[in-house]
Formats: sequence, C-alpha cells, structure tokens
Amino acid sequence: TTASDCTFVSLLAARAEIIRKVKASSGYEEAEINARLICYCSDQAHSSVEKASLIGLVKLRFLPSDDSLSLRGDTLREAVDRDREEGLIPFYLCATLGTTGACAFDNLKELGPICKEEGIWMHVDAAYAGSAFICPEFRKYMAGVEHAQSFAFNPSKWLMVHFDCSGMWLKNSGALHRTFNVDPLYLKHENT
Ligand SMILES: *Cc1c(COP(=O)(O)O)cnc(C)c1O
Repeated sequence: TTASDCTFVSLLAARAEIIRKVKASSGYEEAEINARLICYCSDQAHSSVEKASLIGLVKLRFLPSDDSLSLRGDTLREAVDRDREEGLIPFYLCATLGTTGACAFDNLKELGPICKEEGIWMHVDAAYAGSAFICPEFRKYMAGVEHAQSFAFNPSKWLMVHFDCSGMWLKNSGALHRTFNVDPLYLKHENT
C-alpha cells in the first residue's frame, strides 16, 4: 500500500527478530526486551518513521544529519555506542534515499557496515526518489544499498501509478513470514 506501511511492517519484523534472538540468549521476557529496544532515523526522515515507532512501542532516536542533510556513519556509531552503554538494544535504522524535504541521501556506504556489525536491520525509505534508480545514471545515489535488509519506493509518485502503490524488496522474507503468519481454522480446508 504505502511507504509508511513498508516502514511500519519492516520495523515490526525487525522487532520480532531481535526479541526472538535476545530472548534465546538471555531468557528475558518479551516485554522486558521490548522496553530496551531503540531504533534510529535522521532528523530529515519522513514523519511515518516516528509514527511507526509510536505504534510499534519502541524508542526512536532522531540523529543529526550533516551539512548536506545526510546521515553519516560516525553519527550512528556514536549513538549506538552510547545507547548500548545505557543498556538499550539498537535494532532498526530507517535510512532515507531522497528525503521528502530536500531530496537528501543518507550515506548507506557508511551506515550499512555498522548496521551489519551491530545486528541492526537497515530499511531504506526511497519512497519518492526510488523510481529514479530505474535510470542507470542515477544509481550512484544508492551506493551501499546492498547492505539494506529492506527497500521501499513508491511507483505512485513518479511512475504514474495510482495511489497507493509501494514496492518493497526484502533481503530475506523469512522475517516477515515469521512475524505475520497466522493460521486460522477457517482458512484450513482440503483445497488449500
Ligand atoms: C512520500 C514519502 C513517504 C510517505 O509515502 P506514503 O506512501 O504516503 O506513506 C515516506 N517517505 C518519503 C521519503 C516520502 O517522500
């Protein structure tokens, strides 16, 4: 449906995965782990990231962007180290390629390796500029995208598709299946 949904859904999947992981290694209850979770985005991110964290009941830290309105690796590194010292568990970053306000690009090349090292799910919100990556000459703006766990863009913005339409790519769809699969009795029948 929307880029906002893509952010929300990926945040919930990342949350379910980290809770499962921490629970297995520590024995803490889900609620105790959830209370320690923290996610990140830049101060330029779309308001839907804040909304996703509100509905998902996790803390969100807005990180300052640089002079080009880009979120940089050093800024994330500092925040993650500080938060771990406080006993928090960093688990999700929503990076933006093409911010809504100024079409700024977060530095995925710097952010990606940090996320990998720290076990943080990097979602890329390319809602508005993402369609431009169809053109080879614009692909340089998504350098580092190979580090993303999920990526979303809106054909309903630049590809003349009716509202709502978001495309979402996942590196590993298993996390989404584990988070959202339900198995109700009324969908079970011999012709399944
Ligand atoms: C437009 C936009 C959104 C919101 O898109 P919806 O599909 O309306 O949820 C999110 N992020 C960015 C960067 C946008 O430009």
